[in-house]
Amino acid sequence: MTPAHDSSAAAGRAAELRALLARAQHEYYVLDRPSLSDAEYDKLFRELQAIERDHPELRDADSPTARVGADVGDSHLAKHTHLVPMASLDNAFDEAELQEWDQRLRRLVGDAVDKDGYCCELKIDGAAVSLTYVNGELKIGATRGNGRVGEDVTANLRTIADVPRRLEGKDWPETIEIRGEVYMEFDGFERMNRERAAAGAPVFANPRNSAAGALRQKDPRETAKKPLRFLGYAFAVPGNPSLPFTTQWELLESLASWGIPTPPHRRHCPTLDAVHAWAREIENTIRPELPFAIDGGVVKVNRLTLQTELGVVGGRIPRWAVARKFAPDIAETKLLDIEVQV
Ligand code: NAD
Repeated sequence: MTPAHDSSAAAGRAAELRALLARAQHEYYVLDRPSLSDAEYDKLFRELQAIERDHPELRDADSPTARVGADVGDSHLAKHTHLVPMASLDNAFDEAELQEWDQRLRRLVGDAVDKDGYCCELKIDGAAVSLTYVNGELKIGATRGNGRVGEDVTANLRTIADVPRRLEGKDWPETIEIRGEVYMEFDGFERMNRERAAAGAPVFANPRNSAAGALRQKDPRETAKKPLRFLGYAFAVPGNPSLPFTTQWELLESLASWGIPTPPHRRHCPTLDAVHAWAREIENTIRPELPFAIDGGVVKVNRLTLQTELGVVGGRIPRWAVARKFAPDIAETKLLDIEVQV
């Protein structure tokens, strides 16, 4: 049991944390204006998870820990139901937690993971979207929303130069949802905020919230003025078509061959030690030089059939992937300070 909590104290604290987190989720996902830093949010989230783990009688399907993103019921945009739900990710805050994740999945699939190892990617701090291509043509683009239903932002996504209207090559499946992240580079973000401040408009807290806000504009001409970028890293297909890739690594190569930009600095790691080394290099050497924000790395079991076998917990958390979160970026804390002064 969580030492600090007997049952009634735990119920009280859980209610308090749920209210705080529900408000933070609304500010972050719906208003695009968070009042907590991500590190503060993650700390409260983990505290609630620990209480729910130690007090199963307090578990609740409506808890912020059981949700993906936020409902889009009140949105001014049309709704889109995803082919396959868009999930969230569990976090590993250090090497020991990453090792625990690896041990959990090995209890289910044994050493089969050693055959193709892990695919390690940057965790781009943007807004998740899904692009549906039919016969190679972009038909629908949608936000993640609550994971099952997102907002239709097709017209807005068409304004982003990184999002191809038509896929290159020809070995793509007839229908495919390509998933990835819309984000803003620091340069574009700072320029945009300076212009907003000069015009007396409120500035955005960070590039992530700014990108999410720009993506959900009513008028695509407004989105077109924003310096949005896109990187793709995942897919969903209806039925069981034959695919030109069998691993996450090959998927990224296929996406690139179809004209979809993919995360730089990725690495195919045969062992967990190699994954740790990659994460250290990204955190210490690569992140300070990147032109965009990341909030960690994502470690994925490389073989796609193993991903399917491992599945998704509670419709929310894939067992086959984990976010290796880094210490909060000082730049983000600074930007929140600026926001407070405006
Ligand atoms: P998440 O951001 O921790 O992880 C899932 C998301 O990672 C995916 O949906 C995808 O959009 C993204 N991602 C980026 N690169 C990826 C890659 N290469 N492969 C796979 N996915 C990739 O989960 P979440 O549910 O989107 O958000 C939770 C996080 O959001 C929290 O940990 C917190 O940091 C932040 N948050 C902050 C506040 C706040 O008030 N500051 C509120 C809500 C959420």
